[in-house]
Amino acid sequence: MSKRDYYDILGVNRNASADEIKKAYRKLAIKFHPDKNPGDKEAEENFKEAAEAYDVLSNAEKKQRYDQYGHAGVGGAGGQGGGFSMDDIFSQFGDIFGENDFFGSFFGGQGGGGRRGPRYQQGSNIRIRIKLTLSEMRHGVEKKVKYRRMVEAAGVQYSDCKNCGGSGSVRRVTNTFLGQMATSSACPVCSGMGRTITNKPREANEQGLVGQEFETSIKIPGGVAEGMQLSVNGQGNSGPGGGPSGDLIVVIEQIEHEELQRDGNNVIYTLWLSFPEAAMGASVEVPTLDGAAKIKVDSGTQSGKILRLKGKGFPDINGYGTGDQLIHIQVYVPTRISAEEKELLLKLQDSKNFKPEEKDKSFFDRMKDMF
Ligand code: ZN
Repeated sequence: MSKRDYYDILGVNRNASADEIKKAYRKLAIKFHPDKNPGDKEAEENFKEAAEAYDVLSNAEKKQRYDQYGHAGVGGAGGQGGGFSMDDIFSQFGDIFGENDFFGSFFGGQGGGGRRGPRYQQGSNIRIRIKLTLSEMRHGVEKKVKYRRMVEAAGVQYSDCKNCGGSGSVRRVTNTFLGQMATSSACPVCSGMGRTITNKPREANEQGLVGQEFETSIKIPGGVAEGMQLSVNGQGNSGPGGGPSGDLIVVIEQIEHEELQRDGNNVIYTLWLSFPEAAMGASVEVPTLDGAAKIKVDSGTQSGKILRLKGKGFPDINGYGTGDQLIHIQVYVPTRISAEEKELLLKLQDSKNFKPEEKDKSFFDRMKDMF
């Protein structure tokens, strides 16, 4: 069996415009649509053939390859159906029969599809919050969570929907200037499921669902931050009547640390030094997210200096390295001094080493010196 020429199939010539090709295809799609020709194998073949031809000729790149190399250029060599399924065809329709199009409602279905058979409604998502310490956010953690989830109740009985006979969709025949047209849409009685509940336990809701305590373990990767959301597929509420479950959405919340702050992927710590420590140098302990760390402060360290502990911050959630811990130095000035201390300070006051050098003087001091 050899394949027919795509232009012949659509009945257009080789110079046809995109618009002409679209119009020609529409005509054929309506003529051979399975809804109009139930059980007619030949119509179905024609329908598929037209869809395949349109798929190629409506795509500039495929059309060019077809014009140049024929069927071989578009992967349909050998002349076998080309693997073009009904699903592919119906997915074209959003494009051909747009929302505002007169034909938009022709094939009915919601979402642009003309698929028949019951459709399942997806369950809703559940949102929970998880509080994490900075350390858990740095290293990642596995958390057990308990939450309430709607699941299908035991003992719910269904029968085929009487309104749609179990197909999930209802058809209406309308007279138009093009002849009779069938419109199909989701059945309003069963919401397209094709079944209705005939018997259910008292605690179940209208959709046959009951709330149930649920426990699951969630792996949280290192690097998450306040406000981030993780989605766990299929752990949300069950869909009514056996439909797929929604997702469990986990929202991350941060538990404040007593001494450390987070700034992006960095950890910030303010280290207060006494004046003698800053002047003479010291070895001090600072908290990190991995426990205490000893650091060395050089003699003559000024207030405002920032020390860096490399890699002690948060791993980047997208894998771009790891942040640091930044240690902001502050030199503490005593707010109360004894008479004895005052005496010592007075002795130091005029020492040349204790005077800020010219470059460290404040702007106003320098202005004073000038005039
Ligand atoms: Zn129904």
